[in-house]
Amino acid sequence: MTVTQQQCREMDAADPLARSRDAFVLPEGVVYLDGNSLGALPRQAEERVRAVMTQQWGKDLIKSWNLHDWIGVPARLGAKIARLIGAKPGEVLVADSTSLNVFKALHAALCLRPGRRVILSDEGNFPTDLYMAQGLIEQLSDSHRLEIVPPEEIAAAITEDVAVLMLTEVDYRTGRLHDMKALTKLAHDKGALAFWDLCHSAGAFPVDLNGCGADFAVGCGYKYLNGGPGAPAFIYVAERWQGSAEQPLLGWMGHEAPFAFDLDYRPKPGIARFLVGTPPILSLTALEAGLDLFADVALEALRAKSGALGDLFIALVEQELAGSGLALASPRPAAQRGSQVSYRHPEGYPIMQALIARGVIGDFRAPDILRFGFAPLYVSFSDIWTAVAQLKAVMAGREWEKP
Ligand SMILES: *Cc1c(COP(=O)(O)O)cnc(C)c1O
Repeated sequence: MTVTQQQCREMDAADPLARSRDAFVLPEGVVYLDGNSLGALPRQAEERVRAVMTQQWGKDLIKSWNLHDWIGVPARLGAKIARLIGAKPGEVLVADSTSLNVFKALHAALCLRPGRRVILSDEGNFPTDLYMAQGLIEQLSDSHRLEIVPPEEIAAAITEDVAVLMLTEVDYRTGRLHDMKALTKLAHDKGALAFWDLCHSAGAFPVDLNGCGADFAVGCGYKYLNGGPGAPAFIYVAERWQGSAEQPLLGWMGHEAPFAFDLDYRPKPGIARFLVGTPPILSLTALEAGLDLFADVALEALRAKSGALGDLFIALVEQELAGSGLALASPRPAAQRGSQVSYRHPEGYPIMQALIARGVIGDFRAPDILRFGFAPLYVSFSDIWTAVAQLKAVMAGREWEKP
């Protein structure tokens, strides 16, 4: 059955999330399929950042920490993210970068499993997560080791030596989704903890950390949460570990009484000990503008749309680009994908450059992967039609061969 452009328009007309697109600044003539790398700019962000600068920083200066509750922003934003990832409000905090939060969470997990020596991860993980694990192991005088296995061998590799299973739910190259619930259970059955990276999950589809029994999690503020370049990241610590989790970076913001200026460290109760230094208020303000766009969104609608956008892309590539040499690198069933679809092609890099020149922005990941991310809040079904039509023109004209 062929899909027509008119059908794509009808899908937009029936889309319960269609109106949220107006809340973003999207340049004319651009189809943006790279929100899994850098989310689009929320319209509200500029005004809100300006208001904090002029009304708060500019007028109330340092009094703003109390007067405008700047000190409470990391927890307030954490509570907004909690809803998106199936956590309780007091289980999530916004702070630092994802990389740093990986270090903090991983260290806490290892301390909770003394005697166990293995951090288990897979080849689909994002390099910084693996590097942070390697760096942590160096700090621990090589008492631990990082085991990296192919994704399909994880279950078999979970042994009683494993302290923590560290995985990214969505493979950043292929979009393959791990079964968080099943793998967390396997880890727990062997006495290990489960630590999930949600960089490509949060804001793209609902996650159920509590329902899966996850112990720790981290994720990005600047991808599907639309917090802006380098936006602060988040960290989740299951309530049951908050009293005993030890994080390695003992900054004053995690101290029980930062303004007592004691010479000795005492952790704050609860997740607040995972704070390190002074929160970046302007960046947090931009992130909050992004988070607030999820306030009225039914999370099931988010999942349904992200799956449907991917299904449409796959169907249209099959229909329009048969014989082009583009090989689907993502799982075909939507239930096994995050919110992206990837293709392999030996000329992937110049093909993506040619496509970007035509106003369709996706990205390329070595060695041969073309990635298309579908942020359900602002990507439309008509965008998918346009993207595939432009890709078809690139392939038909062999435009990647042109300098
Ligand atoms: C994007 C991404 C990161 C980025 O980490 P930063 O510290 O923000 O640079 C980390 N892990 C995964 C899985 C990612 O997709």
